[in-house]
Amino acid sequence: MKRLLSLTEHDKDSIKNASESGKGAIMYTGSCYCGQVKYRINGPIDYVVHCHCKPCRKVAGAAYYSAGFIAHSSFEITSGEGLVKTQKNIWNQQNPNVKRFYCGECGGRLGVHISQDQLLNIAINTLDQELEYDIGIHINTESKAPWLEIPENSEQYRQFPPDMAEQLQRIVHQ
Ligand SMILES: [Zn+2]
Ligand SMILES: [Zn+2]
Repeated sequence: MKRLLSLTEHDKDSIKNASESGKGAIMYTGSCYCGQVKYRINGPIDYVVHCHCKPCRKVAGAAYYSAGFIAHSSFEITSGEGLVKTQKNIWNQQNPNVKRFYCGECGGRLGVHISQDQLLNIAINTLDQELEYDIGIHINTESKAPWLEIPENSEQYRQFPPDMAEQLQRIVHQ
């Protein structure tokens, strides 16, 4: 099995190169809690954030929401598409295109559509494959659970990281 995620810049480059040299070289599958909604990702997951904002904590019912950002073109629902529901954006009025999506049968959260037909993120804990390394950066830590300790050596930002928009653009165009 190909190494999917890692900590070093070198490995990030390898993933990027693999995806440039042939789309579909890296593939992930995932599903909701009940398993009726299944999806496939044809491409790398090389930008992961652990978001500590209040809406993410609410919706995930967890200390933070771990999201892997991917291009919409690499994402496909392979079964149970009719069960997928999207949720109106209630927290971020400035960006009405942001829509969380989930399985209407089990309620399992699947991800967030960021911009229609361009960018989404997937709840990485719904992947069937376990990611070997945590490349995630912790963001919006100013609203983190007070009892949570983020590992000291992990990259973290009190709000959104300054290069986030750039990173997302890169993913859309990769
Ligand atoms: Zn389900
Ligand atoms: Zn968030």
